[in-house]
Amino acid sequence: MALHVMEEANRCLQCKKPRCQEGCPIHTNIPQVIRLLKEGKLNEAGWMLFENNPLTTVCSLVCNHEKQCEGHCVRGIKDVPVHFSVIESYISTTYANQMVKGPAPSNGRKAAVIGAGPAGLTIAIILARYGYKVTIFDSRDKIGGVLRYGIPDFRLPDSVLDDMAYRHLELKGIQFRPNTYIGSAITIDDLFRDGYQSVFVGAGLWRPRKLNIRGESLGHVTYAINYLASPAAFRLGERIMVIGTGNSAMDCARTAIRHGARFVSCVNLTDTLTASQYESSYARLEGVDFIMNKCTVEIREDGVILADSQVGEDGKISPVPGTEKLYPCTGVIIAVSQGAESNLVTTTKGIDTVKSGLLTVDEDGHTSRPGVFAAGDAASGARTVVEAVANSKRVAEAMHEYMQSLPLPVTTDYPDAPVVENIDASVQAEQNV
Ligand SMILES: Cc1cc2nc3c(=O)[nH]c(=O)nc-3n(C[C@H](O)[C@H](O)[C@H](O)COP(=O)(O)OP(=O)(O)OC[C@H]3O[C@@H](n4cnc5c(N)ncnc54)[C@H](O)[C@@H]3O)c2cc1C
Repeated sequence: MALHVMEEANRCLQCKKPRCQEGCPIHTNIPQVIRLLKEGKLNEAGWMLFENNPLTTVCSLVCNHEKQCEGHCVRGIKDVPVHFSVIESYISTTYANQMVKGPAPSNGRKAAVIGAGPAGLTIAIILARYGYKVTIFDSRDKIGGVLRYGIPDFRLPDSVLDDMAYRHLELKGIQFRPNTYIGSAITIDDLFRDGYQSVFVGAGLWRPRKLNIRGESLGHVTYAINYLASPAAFRLGERIMVIGTGNSAMDCARTAIRHGARFVSCVNLTDTLTASQYESSYARLEGVDFIMNKCTVEIREDGVILADSQVGEDGKISPVPGTEKLYPCTGVIIAVSQGAESNLVTTTKGIDTVKSGLLTVDEDGHTSRPGVFAAGDAASGARTVVEAVANSKRVAEAMHEYMQSLPLPVTTDYPDAPVVENIDASVQAEQNV
């Protein structure tokens, strides 16, 4: 591994105008990181990566490198690009072991983060560096958001996220409150009441998009995001039909194969796959078939009815009448993207959304309610991990600026309440009265 990494590093041309850095949505200083590595300054290289991108390890594994840093590498024009992802993965995982520092000195202020996905984690880590006491609330039991409950383990091992929970949250004093859906028992108003001076919403997109066809509620049918959260919980049989050909569909298809499916087909509306070349080629390699130019018109207990697709003058795709055929299968996974859930917003006054349910934000993440900020998929729509991190970095600075403009919060309504020194003795005394 290390030898391969140094070979890759040695191929870097150290361009004066690094196209790789331009192609990276978070503008990682790739030539500088590689230079430090070659000079034997691994810790400096690691520090630089994490300062710029708190999720550098994750990004090294799941970014679409072929379109980003590596896709822009000048070497790739005539030859093979420098595989910076391998270099970044090596440096960040090795350097992570050095990251054992405790919390920054407290600045006496608290911030709340809703959602422990890439956006929420970035905000929490940056605000904790400034000395804020940060609490992250998530409806799930562990951190990660899509990183843990969407992207399969074979692409991003849970151990990366567990290590992050320890090094970046626990050691830095960031509190994580699991299994807590904000917008149910606790609302955003409750968070302000409890002294959080600012609230960040990084709730992502977790409402599956429906096909709105007959059969969608049958027992052998599920949605991508529900399936990927715990594939072992489903009994979909040996022949699976995945509706959709985006990256999530590839994740479903490849996961189904790893969970015992013998035949997996992905259905595509047009003649072009939406997944990246990399993801679809791995799916093919692992035995996934693609059924092109078909509309899904009905789901039955014994399979899926597909019809040829046609593009109308208005650009809309529709089924060609009379071309319907039954494609037998034992299970169906619908992977046609996700939309926003509305509870969080409907339980809070003053937070505007656009028609699709995405939060209305300015470029620094201010929502329409003062003190409430948002970024990540909940604000931008379905994007990528690195974009969620890059946008959240800017929003963290805006939250810092906002909170610094406020007086220090009142921490309790009962500042003079006497302390019960020995609870056991006190309880006993009360019982003996
Ligand atoms: C299957 C799949 C595979 C993907 N693969 C890739 C990939 O390989 N590379 C890539 O760059 N991008 C990928 N993406 C996109 C990427 O994962 C997202 O863009 C990114 O996770 C968005 O981050 P986020 O923090 O905004 O939201 P999320 O990751 O969705 O995290 C939101 C968190 O908020 C929590 N939450 C929601 N509502 C509430 C509430 N009311 N109260 C408390 N908690 C709440 C959720 O439980 C979740 O943990 C993929 C997406 C999917 C669906």
